[in-house]
Amino acid sequence: MPTVQLPCKVLVSGANGYIAVWVVRTLLEKGYSVRGTVRSEEKAVHLRQLFSSYGDKHEVVVVEDITKEGAFDEAVKGVDAIEHTASPFHMNADDPDELIIPAVNGTVGMLKSALKYGQSVKRIVITSSGAAVLRDTTTPFTFSELNWNEQCLEILREKGREAPNMMKYRASKTLAEKAAWEFWNKHKASVGWDLTVLNPPYVFGPAINEATTPSGLSTSSKLFYNYVAHPNSSGATNEFLASFGTTWIDVRDLAEAHVISLEKEAAGGERIIVSAGLWKWQDFIDVANTISPPPKLATGGLPKGNPGAGTGHPSTVHFLQYDTTKAARILGLKYRTLAEMTKDTLADYEAKGW
Ligand code: NDP
Repeated sequence: MPTVQLPCKVLVSGANGYIAVWVVRTLLEKGYSVRGTVRSEEKAVHLRQLFSSYGDKHEVVVVEDITKEGAFDEAVKGVDAIEHTASPFHMNADDPDELIIPAVNGTVGMLKSALKYGQSVKRIVITSSGAAVLRDTTTPFTFSELNWNEQCLEILREKGREAPNMMKYRASKTLAEKAAWEFWNKHKASVGWDLTVLNPPYVFGPAINEATTPSGLSTSSKLFYNYVAHPNSSGATNEFLASFGTTWIDVRDLAEAHVISLEKEAAGGERIIVSAGLWKWQDFIDVANTISPPPKLATGGLPKGNPGAGTGHPSTVHFLQYDTTKAARILGLKYRTLAEMTKDTLADYEAKGW
């Protein structure tokens, strides 16, 4: 398939989300025009302000309900590429369908609209997740793009509403990604676009989406705030801080990955795991305590936890690792370090007076 080349316009769904605002910003900085979709006019206000200097290179349109047939029909018209990020990411669903229906129907709906009205579209990038790849294990395992999370689907079949909330979320991402590949395999001979799927792990880093208080942060960035800046009131024990953690990526690097995925021909038809490496909460806390001068947080001094008890400690085990050779080969991503991300995130809290 031909790759996307400037000048061109990219549609970003869920443009007000934590990751998506960085995707929009990265696209604009690189010279792309962007059309973002949000669920209401109210959610467009912050975006319009943030990117006002880009004039008509940045537009926001309202797609109220992404689960409706034809929801994206208008939005896809005239764009050269699509970044589909909109999908519920929270751990509060009682009925699994609260997550699964928007995840699956939103994704397939976007592809259907591109099939009908996306004559100028050359590539569609979907933000899937490591959640669609991994499974819980009791022995360390390195996952690659060949792995699919069948475990969450089995648990959901057995337990339904009683399944742990994390499993409901994982199922929504697994089913949405499976549906995307199924759709593309069925239609690839007759469309002018191809598909790239990104599978990131936990995403951390500064937030430029609308969040006036820490409670307004999106799910992964709220966890970082709670456990790195504020673990005492989160009730986290030192043992938890030293033992909980998997893999991560800086939100800015993930945004970069979304843009590079439009540009690299070899990314077409690929699911790609993007991950900077391993973490335990204690690792971020240790690094935070080396920052000079120390960040001034409204929550008081930084926590200490149990210094040195995270990654690298002889008793620390990482059950999950990712093989990221495909991302290195195709995208050539350079990841920010854990220290860089932690410093910038705490500076972001300080600037916001949190
Ligand atoms: P956010 O919650 O910040 O953004 C989610 C976006 O999806 C928002 O624009 C939100 O709109 C929209 N959305 C949520 N539910 C619905 C719905 N039912 N109908 C329509 N739109 C909806 O999360 P992130 O930016 O963190 O996540 C973005 C994507 O990245 C998601 O697909 C997520 O699964 C994936 N991901 C995130 C990771 C992370 O650690 N953050 C890790 C791996 C993958 P609104 O504001 O109106 O609710």
